Order: sequence, then C-alpha cells, then structure tokens
Amino acid sequence: MPLDLTIPTRQSMAGYAVVGLGRLAIEEVLPAFGRATRSRATALVSGHLDKARQVAETYDVPATSIYHYDDFARLRDDTGVDIVYVILPNSLHAEFTIKALEAGKHVLCEKPMAVSSAECERMIAAARAADRKLMVAYRLHYEPYNRRVAALCQQRALGRIKTFESSNCQRTQAPNIRLSKALGGGPVQDTGIYSINAGRYITGEEPLSVTAIAHQPMDDPSFREVPESVVYTLRYPSGIIGHCETSFGTAESRRIRVHCVDGFIDLDPAFSYRGQRLRVKRGSSDQGETHDDDVVLKPVDHFAAEMDHFSTVVLDGGDVPTPGEMGLADVRIIEAIDEAIRTGRSVEVARG
Ligand code: NAD
Repeated sequence: MPLDLTIPTRQSMAGYAVVGLGRLAIEEVLPAFGRATRSRATALVSGHLDKARQVAETYDVPATSIYHYDDFARLRDDTGVDIVYVILPNSLHAEFTIKALEAGKHVLCEKPMAVSSAECERMIAAARAADRKLMVAYRLHYEPYNRRVAALCQQRALGRIKTFESSNCQRTQAPNIRLSKALGGGPVQDTGIYSINAGRYITGEEPLSVTAIAHQPMDDPSFREVPESVVYTLRYPSGIIGHCETSFGTAESRRIRVHCVDGFIDLDPAFSYRGQRLRVKRGSSDQGETHDDDVVLKPVDHFAAEMDHFSTVVLDGGDVPTPGEMGLADVRIIEAIDEAIRTGRSVEVARG
C-alpha cells in the first residue's frame, strides 16, 4: 500500500454561528471578523430571515447557513460551525447556550452569562456533559489596557491596594432590552458587571460581601421594571474595598481608579469599545515627589482579540481564561447586590 505522505494541517480558522443580529452583533462583532485572524462568521441565526440574508451577503456567510431560532437544532449538521456566539437578550443566554452545547458546538456567550446562578450552573454542567468549551465574552480580559491594569495590580506595582472605585454609566432609553426585567435587564446586570468583573482582576480575590442602594424613579416609564442607578460596595478578604456605581440615566462614564499605598492607577475610559487611557501616578505630594506616567499601548479590536483567543483554545487546546465559572461567580455577586438593595443590609456572596 502506498504511504500517505500528506502532512495533516492544523485548522487555522474557527467558524462562528452568530446568534442574534441586534446592535452588538451588527455594529461590533460582525465587523470584527474582518480584523480577526483565526475566526470567521460561517452561519447566522435570527428571527428575521430577510435581515439575516442581507447580513450574510455583506459578510460572505453561505446562504445555506442561515437559520431561524426555531431551526436551531439543524446547526448540529453544519460542519462549518465550530463555535456558537450567543448575542441575545440575557434571559435567552442559558437556553441557546445549552442547545448549542447539546448540538456539539463550543459556545461564546455574552455577559452577563445568565439571569440566575442556577441557570449558570446548568450551562456549566451542559458544557461538561458535551465535553465542549464554554467562554463568557468578557472582552476586556483580551484588551491591552485592562490587562496592564491587572498586571500592575497583581505585581502590587504601587504597593498594597487599599480601595478601588469604578463607574460604568450611560443613558439607556426605552425601548431597550436592558429596561426589561423579563429579558434580564437592569443596570447592574448590563453595565455594573464590568466593575464587578474588574474587581477580580484588580484584587485577584472574590468579594466576601456587598452593600447596595438603588434609585428607581417610578414616575419615569423607562424605569418601571429596573432601577435607574445603583451604588454598591464590595468587601474583599484582604481588606480591599471596592466602591462602584452604575446608572442608565447619565452621560457615559466608564472608569476605574485603584488606590494603592504608593500612588494610584487610573483607567478612563476603562470599559468603552475603544479609546482607553491609562495614567499611573506614583508618590504623594504630601510626602515629597510625585511622578505621573501616561501609559500608551497598541490598541486592539476587543471583539477580534476575544474571538481569536477562544478560536485558538478551541482549535489548538488550552484553558479558557474567562470560563463559565467566572460568569457564575459574577452572577452570584449580582444576586447578592439585588438582595442588598431589597433588604438594605450587607449580604454575603454565595460560594460554590
Ligand atoms: P439588542 O436589543 O440590540 O439585540 C438583541 C437581539 O436579540 C435582537 O436581534 C433581537 O431581535 C433578538 N431577540 C431574540 N429574541 C428576543 C426577544 N424575546 N426579545 C427581544 N429581542 C430578542 O441587544 P444588544 O445590545 O445587541 O445586546 C445583546 C447581548 O449582548 C446582551 O446580552 C448584552 O448584555 C450583550 N452586550 C455585550 C456587550 C459587550 O461589550 N460585550 C455590549 C453590548 C451588549
């Protein structure tokens, strides 16, 4: 028998089915495939097939790989799809993530991972049962400025961290999925989660307990179901305190400041899609000299970087840096904040 001399080639690109063609998918994720090196869009899932056909033409997605939500199970046989990217309202993340895992696909799921910790646990169990990878789309873990903040904090570059403050505020007006309780909306779930997640890469710890107060202007029809603003604190085992705020009623403000013994680290904006600015201030004017550094790094497309990272893990093996367990930990913190708002008390964060 002749020897087979063909060299097996490593699959270089992962195919993605984009589920949900809303604002994030259309304005950020689909254009990002053009800047990705290991990820391409190979299928679309939508409730509006006409819209999906138009989008498919723009991004060279085969017409045979357009699915309605009702046909989702057919994705199982689509060999061009390795990864399903769930970009639906939060209340649908668990359902479509579990269906995709059961169809044998890996899943990238938008934040927040789901609307309850029980749903997150079911999603993690489904990934284990299917032996597929599950990643939560925490894009800032793949973004150089946030990564630099995490590294500076981890190295304790400015000495011990005592407190951090973080805001993620924007104006959100009806109609919007973020204002619907049934769809899993709310400012903590939507924007506050960035500060909660940043708390982990700033401190390297999980918070023990939270306090929170909220304002819900019942005379404003936008806020019949969810609060407009929430201010909350996170208490960590080492003594670090995080104080954070999130609002759907203000101009954009998305920042982190980490207060350390020997200076502070300022990332403003921290959570926007682009334009991050990092300043490191060393020393204290009441104790002599101070030194201010503007740190300039090469920016990346957050979504391309995140998708390429996941594609590499799926194609070549390795661990997912932002796994379902991290999504679950954040949803537990959100549940504690909700309870703190309801009770007016400090609430311990549940552990696994
Ligand atoms: P959107 O409202 O613009 O889009 C939602 C999509 O879901 C639409 O295509 C809509 O038709 C579809 N949909 C399916 N079933 C629906 C239902 N029952 N009700 C309403 N819509 C339904 O929202 P978006 O801004 O694109 O957000 C989608 C997800 O992406 C959310 O989970 C959000 O948290 C997340 N998100 C993440 C980032 C990020 O930076 N990572 C940014 C924005 C949004």
